[in-house]
Amino acid sequence: MSEEREALAELARRRGLFFPANEAYGGTAGFYVYGPTGAAIKRNVEDAWRDRFAIGEGNMEIDAPTIMPEPVFVASGHLDGFDDMLVECAECGESHRADHLVEAATGMEDAETLEPEEIAELIAEADLACPNCGAALAGQDVTDFNLMFETNIGPGSDAPGYLRPETAQGIFVEFPRLREYARDQLPFGVTQVGRAYRNEISPRRGLIRVREFTQAELELFVDPERDEADLSSVADVTLTLYPAEQQGAEGREYVETTVAEAVDDGTIAIDWIAYYLGLAQEWYSSIGVDMDRFRFRQHLPGERAHYAADCWDAEAEVGGDWIELAGFAYRGDYDLSRHAAHADDEFTVFQQYDESVTVERPCVDPDMSVLGPEFGELATDVGNALADLAERDPGAFDGEAVPVEVDGQTYDVPTAATGFAVEEVTESGEHVTPHVVEPSFGVDRLVYTHCAHALREDEVDGEPRTRLALPPASAPTFVGVFPLMDRDGMGERSREVADRLRSRGFAVAYDDAGSIGRRYRRQDEVGTPYCVTVDYESLDDGTATLRDRDTVAQRRVDLDDLPDVLAALRADERAFENVGVAVADA
Ligand code: ATP
Repeated sequence: MSEEREALAELARRRGLFFPANEAYGGTAGFYVYGPTGAAIKRNVEDAWRDRFAIGEGNMEIDAPTIMPEPVFVASGHLDGFDDMLVECAECGESHRADHLVEAATGMEDAETLEPEEIAELIAEADLACPNCGAALAGQDVTDFNLMFETNIGPGSDAPGYLRPETAQGIFVEFPRLREYARDQLPFGVTQVGRAYRNEISPRRGLIRVREFTQAELELFVDPERDEADLSSVADVTLTLYPAEQQGAEGREYVETTVAEAVDDGTIAIDWIAYYLGLAQEWYSSIGVDMDRFRFRQHLPGERAHYAADCWDAEAEVGGDWIELAGFAYRGDYDLSRHAAHADDEFTVFQQYDESVTVERPCVDPDMSVLGPEFGELATDVGNALADLAERDPGAFDGEAVPVEVDGQTYDVPTAATGFAVEEVTESGEHVTPHVVEPSFGVDRLVYTHCAHALREDEVDGEPRTRLALPPASAPTFVGVFPLMDRDGMGERSREVADRLRSRGFAVAYDDAGSIGRRYRRQDEVGTPYCVTVDYESLDDGTATLRDRDTVAQRRVDLDDLPDVLAALRADERAFENVGVAVADA
């Protein structure tokens, strides 16, 4: 493990950020618990995502079940194709993600695009060994392994269900109702923040690859003919792009470019994707991801799903590895068309034209007094086949007889008996299957990256200290309140201050244990931006020391003003050096 990841794992366990679950029972790989501080960071990150991508964009948020019945995943394609490549060690029985072993050994970036047989050959060629016991893996089968967790719905039931492997399906399946809430008007977006489950072959690297995780997904439904992305708010945002053609190239290079330029020169093929990359770039930066260790990587042609026109991943570097934080995909009409084909509902939106149009519509009105005696019980099917044919190929009605196919047999129907005509009809709109633009964010990987990027080791008063330089919006606690000592009324006064701050909506940590220096260190380690110490002077003149986590500068502040001062600091409306008076001058 890299030094950075080791330092984070140590801090995470010690300070209640996150730790492996079920250790009392020997542990369960791929499941993590967020401790009190980690749960607060995660909630803050989710809220920040909601503020930006749901509320800030005027999208609707839903909360759908995490277990869904099998037909959903038949339609979505997950049952058939949501596989990773598995190789098992014959010696110790450990399972490994075969493509990842090949990538780690060869430096390839796209091994998942290869077939299992090709991966097996590469394993043999490179003479790869089991990372667990060192036995040779050459000659072992590489197989596809479906990542969904299966369950039964109802006792003794034969209705299989699956834990959703992504939150998105809950949005697609409910589209017919969601469309009504959007008053049948495109474009509209639906978001969901919730758990997803994947039975990962080899979960690893802390929160990076777990079997139960949280996604924040946005599905934007657009009319492909009429809706266009408005890029004006993000046009000048500079992106760090890693286009497909640079990947694997000698001396690979990132492209630093604005959203507008990337669209103009075709680096980003789809405006909607460019829009969300711009939004995401600014959002990741605002919540404290180190943008010098961040890039958008374009999917290689073999890597993206066949229906997806263009895909980019947001990636961040931690401990020398690039981690996928989010995916941005233009999915076309794949999702809604698939559900329309498998479900009993309509997955279209009626789009009103600006002005009604008159169109010619070929139709039939079969004479059943002819078709009945001629085709007997097949007469209705023949009538339906004629109606389909008229729509599809009106030219077929030009001759004396029309050939139609029913149950694989062709029958000739006299054209005169079909009642074929071309009518003029006025249409006010059409049914459109919306296309889907999908930004899909992983919350856990972001919490992890965010903490790794915020982790700092420095020295204060000649002592090493660890600090999480989290921005106030994601810090688990905003302010620590300490009495210098819990005596002579300082404890009571501090508790009053803490209560007052809590009632103003600040997350407060009250701490009266140990030296002030140790208390500061504890708050520094969980990223608390400010601490207040109530001392003897506070009892006399109503002021207290306010300390800034990052600079360790201290200001003397009137306790009556403290809530307003903290609110201004939180909103970034005042700089720390402009509040109260410097401690040396007090
Ligand atoms: P990977 O290639 O790393 O397995 P993916 O491309 O399959 O990820 P998506 O299906 O695009 O991932 O899911 C969207 C986001 O969900 C990812 O960008 C990631 O942040 C998160 N995610 C996916 N799988 C996991 C996992 N096993 N553990 C934690 N987060 C995950």
